[in-house]
Amino acid sequence: MDNKSQSQELTQKYMMNFINRIPVTFVKGEGLQLWDENGKTYLDFVGGWAADSLGHCHPVQVEALTNQAKTLIHVSNAFYTEPQSKLAELLVKNSCLDKVFFCNSGAEANEGAIKLARRWGALKLKGAYEIITTLDSFHGRTLAMTAATGQAKFQKPYIPLPEGFTNVKYNDIEAIKQATSSKTCAVMLEPVQGEGGVNLPSSEYLKQVRAWCDEKGLLLIFDEVQTGMGRLGKLFGYEVYGVEPDVITLAKGIASGFPIGVIMAKERASVFSPGEHGTTFGGNPLACAVGYAVTQYIIDKKVPQNSDLMGRYITSQLRILQGKYPFIKDVRGCGLLIAVEFNCDIAEAVMYACLKEGLVINYLKANLLRIIPPLIITRAEIDKGIGILEQVLAGINI
Ligand SMILES: *Cc1c(COP(=O)(O)O)cnc(C)c1O
Repeated sequence: MDNKSQSQELTQKYMMNFINRIPVTFVKGEGLQLWDENGKTYLDFVGGWAADSLGHCHPVQVEALTNQAKTLIHVSNAFYTEPQSKLAELLVKNSCLDKVFFCNSGAEANEGAIKLARRWGALKLKGAYEIITTLDSFHGRTLAMTAATGQAKFQKPYIPLPEGFTNVKYNDIEAIKQATSSKTCAVMLEPVQGEGGVNLPSSEYLKQVRAWCDEKGLLLIFDEVQTGMGRLGKLFGYEVYGVEPDVITLAKGIASGFPIGVIMAKERASVFSPGEHGTTFGGNPLACAVGYAVTQYIIDKKVPQNSDLMGRYITSQLRILQGKYPFIKDVRGCGLLIAVEFNCDIAEAVMYACLKEGLVINYLKANLLRIIPPLIITRAEIDKGIGILEQVLAGINI
């Protein structure tokens, strides 16, 4: 970590300065373990921002990737391919949704869902086009998704933003009701807000939003880019809250770090006509073969159940730490999407101290850590990671 390596020098010289990077160069991964270029090992509680659902280089993923790479990598969506059809069937048969569109990322899936909602508005709601989203949400980095994302820090540098989005308070059904007008065609929400601070819905909120959308004929879109594929302890986040959305988007987690995005919709909401949406790379055989293998494994091996059990275990261990260290203000989460909130701005210092001790952990805000490990995490790995965190917290001077 001390000497700037060649890759770090090259990156800083040749790449745009879009993120303050952590000075570690990873060269290898296996399961929850990562190796840096000096041979130091780390336990990974971040999993590439909640994407690496089966950890690093899982044999099932590597096998699907290498087999498909030797067979067929890409053809256009003008033709049929086997991996695409198989993954579509698998996702539909294991969800409440009926139809699938494949793309390459979370932001792109959300963009497509917004276009779908605008078609819905055009066809069913006299041209309504506005989408209600929530404050502290995160929907991706494209220009339209920046408008959808209710956080000033992402929006400010890019004003003027595309119109047609209203950001209202989360967990507040009245705010959605007040923002609804004859122009509204959809509501888009994360079942649990991830990037915005691991904010959980009240027990009634999502049901109330569902009822309101039904009353007004609005599409209910769940952005499950982070919460989907087992992260919350069920295959999809909507199952945790007993609310069926009309549309969901997925990305992180489906192919355990290989890029893929998905829009899924109920039959009645699948309103694209030929030519109204498209993609060159989306749904390519390579991404879909990996997505299929990973998704099949997640279902067959009951990975969401492990996420639920291990999430409860981490949370209980963190609550014990909270009892010992009063500067831990709150521990909250669902499945393996967990936040540790401090009552002071020590999260970055804690993150760096953990890194030094060989634990990769995500600091989301000055006072907030997020724990989003691969979903295959074991009790032993949790004990090791929490042990490192406790050692670090014990040494914090505040
Ligand atoms: C990460 C994330 C996105 C954006 O996904 P990308 O693949 O980075 O475009 C969108 N929505 C949510 C809820 C996310 O967590």
